[in-house]
Amino acid sequence: MTIDLPPDGSGDDALTGAMPFVRETFGLEVVRVAALGSNEDVNVVASLADGSRVLLKVSHPGISRTALEAQNAALRWLGQHSAVSFEVPALCTSLGGREIEPWIDDERLARVLTFVEGALPAAAARPAAGLATELGRTAGRLALALATFDQPELPDGGQWDLRNARAVVEDAVSLSLGEELLATLAAAESRMASADSSLRVQAIHGDLTADNVVLDDAGSVRGVIDFGDVGRGWLAAEIAVLACSLLQHDGDPVEEALQAVAAFDRECPLADADIVALWPLVVSRAVVLVASAARVLADDPSNTYAQVRAPLERRMLERALSLSFEEAEILVRAALGRLAAMPSDVAPMIAGLEDADEADLSVASAVHSSGGWTREGHIEKTLLQLGGFVGATVTRYSEHRLTPGAITEVLPRSLAIGIDAVVPAGTVVRAPADGVVVLGGAVAMEGAEALASTGVVLDRGATAWARGAEPTRLAGERVRAGDVIGRAVARSPLVPARGGDTGLPEAIVGIGWCLAGGLEPPVLVAPHTESLWRVACPDPSALVGRAPEIPTQVSAPGALLARRDAIFATVQEHYYAEPPQFERGWRHHLVDTKGRAYLDMINNVAILGHGEPRLTDAVAAQMARLNTNSRFHYEALVEFSEALAARAPDGLDVVLLVNSGSEAVDLAIRVARAATGRSDILALTEAYHGWTVGADAISTSIGDNPSALATRPEWVHLLDAPNTYRGRHRGTGAPLYLADALVRLDALDAAGVALAGIVSEPIFGNGGGTLLPDGYLRGLWKAVRARGGVCVSDEVQVSYGRLGEYFWGFEQQGVVPDVIAVAKAMGNGHPLGAVITTREIADAFAVEGSFFSSAGGSPVSCVVGSTVLRVLEEDSLQENALVVGALLANGLRALAARYPVLGEVHGMGLYLGVEVVSGGPDGPDPDTAAAICVDLLEEGVIVQPTGDHKNVLKIKPPLTIDADAVERFLAALDGVMERRASRAAM
Ligand code: PMP
Repeated sequence: MTIDLPPDGSGDDALTGAMPFVRETFGLEVVRVAALGSNEDVNVVASLADGSRVLLKVSHPGISRTALEAQNAALRWLGQHSAVSFEVPALCTSLGGREIEPWIDDERLARVLTFVEGALPAAAARPAAGLATELGRTAGRLALALATFDQPELPDGGQWDLRNARAVVEDAVSLSLGEELLATLAAAESRMASADSSLRVQAIHGDLTADNVVLDDAGSVRGVIDFGDVGRGWLAAEIAVLACSLLQHDGDPVEEALQAVAAFDRECPLADADIVALWPLVVSRAVVLVASAARVLADDPSNTYAQVRAPLERRMLERALSLSFEEAEILVRAALGRLAAMPSDVAPMIAGLEDADEADLSVASAVHSSGGWTREGHIEKTLLQLGGFVGATVTRYSEHRLTPGAITEVLPRSLAIGIDAVVPAGTVVRAPADGVVVLGGAVAMEGAEALASTGVVLDRGATAWARGAEPTRLAGERVRAGDVIGRAVARSPLVPARGGDTGLPEAIVGIGWCLAGGLEPPVLVAPHTESLWRVACPDPSALVGRAPEIPTQVSAPGALLARRDAIFATVQEHYYAEPPQFERGWRHHLVDTKGRAYLDMINNVAILGHGEPRLTDAVAAQMARLNTNSRFHYEALVEFSEALAARAPDGLDVVLLVNSGSEAVDLAIRVARAATGRSDILALTEAYHGWTVGADAISTSIGDNPSALATRPEWVHLLDAPNTYRGRHRGTGAPLYLADALVRLDALDAAGVALAGIVSEPIFGNGGGTLLPDGYLRGLWKAVRARGGVCVSDEVQVSYGRLGEYFWGFEQQGVVPDVIAVAKAMGNGHPLGAVITTREIADAFAVEGSFFSSAGGSPVSCVVGSTVLRVLEEDSLQENALVVGALLANGLRALAARYPVLGEVHGMGLYLGVEVVSGGPDGPDPDTAAAICVDLLEEGVIVQPTGDHKNVLKIKPPLTIDADAVERFLAALDGVMERRASRAAM
């Protein structure tokens, strides 16, 4: 973004006076002025006759002359300092020889500065590559130059000086979040208490963030601007402010923040006290920002500056608190490379594990099937059971595990940075080398039991930890290699049936390294920042007497995708440019290999949800017993066909089984043709019916095939989609679609076209869940039937029960088709499709000879079909679609009312679509829709755009979705929309 200026003469007071003021007081030949936004000062850019620009700054009345003089002195100092490789504004001298002049109202003070030309970093969801490092380096150089700047008048304090954080937050205590903010600040203060007396105090910029730099064409920092917060403060605060600001971004913001800290440190080395204080200061800064915004908005709810920034500031705080202080300090030390070396010669802390079995706790492991992983303590129980079964067991270092947090946390802790050893209780733990005992154990994850832990800070600096071991030595005691330092504690509460002296493994001891001083890392860490964790807490295999783990699952990011791209036809697209790799599903969640469970809002096929055990068991049993084809005689076929026909309207009592929606539609076309002896088909625009030759011929969605409308074969006749949101007739004009259709039928008659029938969806699937106008199908089908045609309902996408109020889609239109084509959800993802029709029509089809589909109606498929119908019933999933669908639709409508870019919410039940538009129905906005989907993925939510314009958010989750998941989804969408609005307004 370059600094584009608004037009002259916006009527602003300062603007009106600026031109004569700069001319007369500073003697500069101004040709044009324009206002520049600012929080408190009035800033006016003046273009001069020679083509250059200057900035007139009129400070707010609260700013003293001495403060401005101090700022000026800092600018002069930096202007000539050799460490400063970037530009800073230079001061212009007035005709009277002064750098500060009274403004025309005599209350405020004015200065004229050179204008630092360049581009402002874009307020994007993700910062440009390298920007964090560039900013960190700039902050470091600035801090270095200011270290020797000594100006007695330099202001102290102020609300942005983190030494005054408590006063700012106390001022907000009476506001809703105040108490919580104060408690957070207190935690930060106590964490840095040991360090703050030795923190260096010097002149700092105080607000060096992406907002206050300008870039050159290559994206490097050309200049630093806005020295309004220059003052004395902690040196560490300079980089903490920058690191905090980087946490507003999506992606890996902690990683970005740490890159900035590392770049700062390379220019201006941080002392140990700075490192200890750094993350507490990041948290303090975020708390101060949130508290200040709350105060400003309480006093002046219309303050747009605070309104716009508040969501991003809350985000900074949220991200800052995503790490414990201990974790953050380990990461900071890793990012700065201030780590101890890993000792190469150590003795095992626990003996006898050389041949222990290795447990697989990865996402793909069978131990997680049937949703066991969603229960607290599952991993521990699994390990203890494995231990009881096979004896001593160890887990894998650097494995992403699946934990219940995958569902509740956006960035769940999943990466194991140690090895868990499953051993008999009482097993001794020994010092791996000479060193000094440290005790830990404070680190208990939420919901987990607090475990004793003991470790040894080795003489060579690294710390070896044993969590779950009762210490036998005191902290600070010196130990030699091989000395006993602890004993494994029984985890009997987890397996109450065992215990005592059975000799069976019943304890879990977590063994790990930490190269960052005597800090104790957690068992599992979030997968972002994982490269730093691997450096700070390397493979502890040697500590359990084993050869190092070969990192099997840490293949280069994108390697599998490259293989897919190499082997799979490009037309077979995949969602997302950087798709997560999903290897497990559970109910309405998909789990990636890093142990993150994404809310699946689009898998309408998995109607029962993913991994449904009743289905899995039924399939496994049938597959093991018999799978053959429908020319043989077996019970499953009869049972399923009967169950399916029983769900269809009376008269539709004959079933043909195939494998997909395309096949079902294709077969329906053939059936209609056979029944009528005609070949022409009527279809609607904006629809997709499948990929086979027949189904494709009647598919018209230009979102799927841009040339669809121009390339339909001559036997296909089209009616305009009755889209009442964006189409020709809207709102009360909806009935006109039927009138138009009837006119079109008359025209076909006149042209001598005899229709075999019509194929249409009862609700537009690919169109984004748009409902047909009331009475549309009733009127249209009546007219088609009057002409001897057959009416086919393509129920493939809407499938069973999704509309909540209705089982079939056509019921919503109050009609009964002659032929139903259905698939997708009927197999919950297993290939299964069906045509259901009348005996008469089915018999007419027999004239074309026999019909056979090798896998259609196989025993396994039929068992799948019957089980889906049974579970749907048992779990009242149609009712769930009604109840939860209403919650979802209401929530979406509430969001659409707040964010203009969200337009109409289409559909019903759990068959919904949200328009993304700019300026209303005629401004479909596919780019924003796509960007929202990418942002939602970051929040752990899967949504994709659909529709002719690819601008409708498709919302068709498995019918298992519950109120909690809906709440999570709506909160994620709200956050994404709010931050998008903030960034757009900046
Ligand atoms: N009809 C409709 C309405 C559909 O949505 C689809 C698939 N999107 C099909 C038919 C084709 O089904 P399949 O992909 O199972 O062949």
